[in-house]
Amino acid sequence: MYDLIIIGMGISGISAAIYAKRSNLNVLIIEGDTPGGTLNKIPNITNYPGFSKISGPDLAMNLFNTINELEIPYKLEKVTDVILEDIKTVKTKDNIYHSKYLLIASGRKPNLLGLEHEEEFLGKGISTCALCDGALYKNKEVAIVGGGESALSEALYLAKICKKVYLIHRREEFRAKELTIKNVKEEPNIELILNNEIKKLIIKDNTFKGIELKNKKLNISCLFIYIGSTPNTEFLKQTDIKLDNNSIIVNEKNETNIKDVYASGDVIKKDIYQLITAASEGATAAINISTKNR
Ligand SMILES: Cc1cc2nc3c(=O)[nH]c(=O)nc-3n(C[C@H](O)[C@H](O)[C@H](O)COP(=O)(O)OP(=O)(O)OC[C@H]3O[C@@H](n4cnc5c(N)ncnc54)[C@H](O)[C@@H]3O)c2cc1C
Repeated sequence: MYDLIIIGMGISGISAAIYAKRSNLNVLIIEGDTPGGTLNKIPNITNYPGFSKISGPDLAMNLFNTINELEIPYKLEKVTDVILEDIKTVKTKDNIYHSKYLLIASGRKPNLLGLEHEEEFLGKGISTCALCDGALYKNKEVAIVGGGESALSEALYLAKICKKVYLIHRREEFRAKELTIKNVKEEPNIELILNNEIKKLIIKDNTFKGIELKNKKLNISCLFIYIGSTPNTEFLKQTDIKLDNNSIIVNEKNETNIKDVYASGDVIKKDIYQLITAASEGATAAINISTKNR
């Protein structure tokens, strides 16, 4: 029986765990994939206090080291189901855990285009992480689909590694910072393909060969997909937790509508999805939980 179980070891869950542990709560973190979460996908961070520039994986490692230094217990298991009664029950494939309080900090997952063969070729020509897979396509031609800040920043990252980067966007205008848009437009290695859509993946001999757009085909080695994300809330399906478009609704204390259940970071409904807000909400939730537990 734990005081607090935290689902997700991204920056939000880790920040919460640090505050919880320092308040003497008996805390457990459960992480279904890689400690650090989305941080592991960010090539360069230039807007996190204390670092003029740091890579996402380096910041993830620093945070993970803090978890180990504070001897905070964690399990690398995916949460499949939760029961939100007075005692909170958290189920994974092989285990069941119990706690007084629950913090959901499970982040978001990248959206896919919904094309045939897309999921089958993830990691084999289709990717949602330029930092993880970009180096595999050194001096090759690749494409990115998307028109937001992530798509544009990742296109700039890939332009330094790959022979050519096609940036495909279904509209004329991008939704990104002015400076990022300017840098993309000035980068000779990036070719913009606007007002266009990917119709089909070209697969031959069980190998990804390229993509078919509205009016042309592109032979590329990899397609990077950056078209937004969906909150990781599947394990809450059996609960009455209030969601808006799959994002968890919380108040200013990061409490959900269910007693002693909190949520923080990219999984909640909010205006600003950044590292600093995710960290701050994790800390807010943990401080409120420890105050309530006194
Ligand atoms: C490409 C990209 C670049 C970005 N660049 C910046 C930037 O430069 N500066 C900035 O401030 N922000 C940036 N962001 C936003 C920032 O990364 C996020 O706001 C932040 O990482 C969210 O942290 P989190 O802890 O809420 O979620 P995450 O980091 O996503 O962590 C959630 C964790 O929960 C785990 N999880 C999910 N479901 C389960 C389950 N069922 N069981 C167990 N564990 C589970 C996941 O595996 C994950 O590790 C960027 C985002 C992207 C995608």
